[in-house]
Amino acid sequence: MSDYVQSPISGRTMNRPLLISSLIKNAARYFSDVEIVSRMSDGTVHRYTYGDCHARAQRLANALAQLGLSIGDRVATLGWNNYRHFEAYFAIPGSGLVLNTINPRLHADQITYIADHAEAKCVLFDLSFLEQAEAIAAQCPGAATFVAMCAASEMPERTSISNLICYEDFIAAASDTYGWPEFDETAASALCYTSGTTGNPKGVLYSHRSTMIHSYAEVMPDAFNISSRDVIMPVVPMYHSNAWGLPYASALAGAKLVLPGPMMDGKSLYELIDGEGVTFSAGVPTVWNGLLDYIKARELSFTTFKRMNIGGSACPTAMMNTFRHTHGVDVIHAWGMTEMSPMGTICTLQGRHADLPEADIQTLRETQGHPVFGVDMLLLDDQGVELPWDGKTTGNLFVKGPWVIDSYFKHPVGSALEDGWLPTGDVVTINSQGYIKIMDRSKDIIKSGDEWISSIEVENIAQLHEDVHQAACIGIPHPKWGERPVLVVIARAEAEISKDDLLAFLEDRIAKWWMPDDIHFVDTIDLGPTGKVLKNKLRDRFAKVESTAT
Ligand code: AMP
Repeated sequence: MSDYVQSPISGRTMNRPLLISSLIKNAARYFSDVEIVSRMSDGTVHRYTYGDCHARAQRLANALAQLGLSIGDRVATLGWNNYRHFEAYFAIPGSGLVLNTINPRLHADQITYIADHAEAKCVLFDLSFLEQAEAIAAQCPGAATFVAMCAASEMPERTSISNLICYEDFIAAASDTYGWPEFDETAASALCYTSGTTGNPKGVLYSHRSTMIHSYAEVMPDAFNISSRDVIMPVVPMYHSNAWGLPYASALAGAKLVLPGPMMDGKSLYELIDGEGVTFSAGVPTVWNGLLDYIKARELSFTTFKRMNIGGSACPTAMMNTFRHTHGVDVIHAWGMTEMSPMGTICTLQGRHADLPEADIQTLRETQGHPVFGVDMLLLDDQGVELPWDGKTTGNLFVKGPWVIDSYFKHPVGSALEDGWLPTGDVVTINSQGYIKIMDRSKDIIKSGDEWISSIEVENIAQLHEDVHQAACIGIPHPKWGERPVLVVIARAEAEISKDDLLAFLEDRIAKWWMPDDIHFVDTIDLGPTGKVLKNKLRDRFAKVESTAT
């Protein structure tokens, strides 16, 4: 129930619903010739236009309608970033169905849990995920229709899915003219599940209205700054929080889109970036190391690539600096959550920063930025007392906004909130201008004695060492201090770095009591299904290693 004050007089503007179908209609009407380029799983490059996409999205909407689905029914996808998945992004919500993007990298049990919990009636999948689709078919009786997103010639010879439909046949048989229906803008549009490291994933259900407002906000100059002059390459997967909204924002702006499919190696990304004239890309930090290594080894440079948005976890300063200073690419740090569609804060500089000394500008750039218009923030201590925005005081971040959820799917309305605010689970400082610095997830922050240690800060500084490829800092139980930091490091190939070298490097740069008690050199660091470090796994892996602090 809304407790807003009611005005006796309403504005006299048209009450047009904000619907996702309007994005693809707009792109096809005004940017019909603008290209969408996809790297397919076999490495080939497919290209067509928004005009072609609209025709095929209408075919898909007609084909889905013939399955007898009702408005609000969920249609799941297990797909890479490619043009067929992009068509589903419009056909499914545009026709009133709900797009349930399932992260195929989740454990098989979680995938079937999601399909079951979402009550998906139909599943569209890329052939790479046949096994996952078969698991859903075997365990979720409600999922009656399975469509392999491929051509007839690529259909699997053998599968346990009965009556498997070929996507190309499915849409070829349907008309390419579809009357996109109008309905209430608060209708559900997409259902993403959190990739929670503990417990079952939770459903985050966006509406047409929240997605449309998020799209308008995303293209703003102090957000992702997307226009029809851009060539956008979402490296963030379309199964992770709607690829941070980029498919929708690109269609809104009429920007050329480059969808990189499964190939995240440096060579494949570089070829697309330079070959297709990419101006803007976005993704989590871990995907960019391969690209940086590739261009460094070959002394390559970028021709058109000017901006990138790195978020999902803290962007190491070293990575930010290499992109900016060596390759001329402006790294814009961003923070968000699936529960926020996901955009929360973006680190663009403002007019008032023009004359700041370079060191202060660098300090600002390393923050996660200021809230995008629409997002409200609140900083509280553990007792719920409001804390000052002074850039120093650390507290729990709460948010509000038109694209922030109020409850998880199938939970009571408002149940995700505390006094009307969504707890983010992030521990941050906020400066007087509203720039936030994420110190940690509340469950990852290290408590040593009565003091907090930011694992993100320690990692960031360790990664400034030229021989460190990746570092993760975790808290390990300690009898006297409660917890002490331990650093887990992947060294660069062929680097000869010892524990003492790295400790000496850190010694000058961090407080004495922040110094890791131990450093472990490893070949791999566990990453979760969205490319983030799994700190709970690392803690299990190193929990038994004795702390050396006295
Ligand atoms: P997800 O919903 O999987 O996208 O995860 C959201 C969480 O990722 C946030 O609550 C943060 O803990 C973390 N996160 C997102 N962006 C950043 C960032 N730029 N720096 C540090 N942590 C981040």
